[in-house]
Amino acid sequence: MSVANLARPEIRKLQPYKAAMQIDDTVRLNANEAPWNSSGDRFRRPLNRYPEIRPARLQRQLSRRFGCESDQLLVTRGSSEAIDLLLRAFCRADVDNVVTLAPSFSMYAHYAEIQGAEVREVALPRDRDFDADTNAILAACDDQTRLVFVCTPNNPTGTTVPRQKIVELLQSRRDKSLIVVDEAYIEFSDASSCADMLDAYDNLVVLRTLSKALAFAGVRCGTVMGNLQVIGMLNAIQAPYALATPVVECVENALQADQLEQAAQGVALIVEERERVTDALGGHELVEKIWPSSANFFLMQVSNAEAVVAACKERNILLRYFGGSLADCIRVTIGSPEENDTLLGAFDSLAGARS
Ligand code: PMP
Repeated sequence: MSVANLARPEIRKLQPYKAAMQIDDTVRLNANEAPWNSSGDRFRRPLNRYPEIRPARLQRQLSRRFGCESDQLLVTRGSSEAIDLLLRAFCRADVDNVVTLAPSFSMYAHYAEIQGAEVREVALPRDRDFDADTNAILAACDDQTRLVFVCTPNNPTGTTVPRQKIVELLQSRRDKSLIVVDEAYIEFSDASSCADMLDAYDNLVVLRTLSKALAFAGVRCGTVMGNLQVIGMLNAIQAPYALATPVVECVENALQADQLEQAAQGVALIVEERERVTDALGGHELVEKIWPSSANFFLMQVSNAEAVVAACKERNILLRYFGGSLADCIRVTIGSPEENDTLLGAFDSLAGARS
């Protein structure tokens, strides 16, 4: 069976939008564009023209970087858009469901709710350091499970799901569900991308983003990689001209060798700082536990977490509080060394104020 059969029937039939033809050095009177560009236009490529319907060169560059063929990848507005496209392509309202881990990135459930798909959460056991249980994930799946989201390293726990467990899911759900591996934070870990398994498993989808390690959250650019037919369907439902000209230029620059080298140094510094900050807070009197993290953040259990978050806010430091099953936890993003020192100073002053 082709994995494309898992998609909504109307999406399987959908043809991509037919955009006006774009050919260099022609008189372009076919797209109702302005014939001149504005005096405020500072970009290399004129903004009076529509961008390419899909940025072909960027797609090639990103596929080389992320390790797949160009036609196995779609460039998206952040990986958030990819999550939305997957939900819209594969889930019928009130019929299909998705399986997510809990706690994990809340956007999977958010887009599932928008689409009217049921969300089945499989708890990551806290007493086993949030280690994913593949049997529990598979037990949550049924014939209507279209997508299984596996975030590794996982937001907000910072823990990873070993490749062997992902292979187990891919094999057990072959022809039944797409296994969506979200690798937003992989550059901060020792793990290698699952993209090298795309040819072996047509139910594998891998998400990458430029928002974290490449420091480009503001441009909104990510990618979804997968089987040709899956990518073809996502391409058909993504908005025409989704990637704006300034975004494409910006990301093409970011992918130059010197920029990539700078980004790699940034990642190394974040990893070093993650170890320094977690070591420093590990023995702190307010901190009860820190989970080892493979991301650019870490999760810690703290006495009176909500009050600590509020006290840090008063000191101009924003931390992430989730409540619910993590009501005694705080997620901390690793900042610059100076920012991290500010956090450590605040924790010392809070402890001093308590004693
Ligand atoms: N996946 C995970 C796990 C995330 O934490 C985030 C952002 N916080 C995203 C995807 C979305 O990132 P973006 O849309 O910026 O690519």
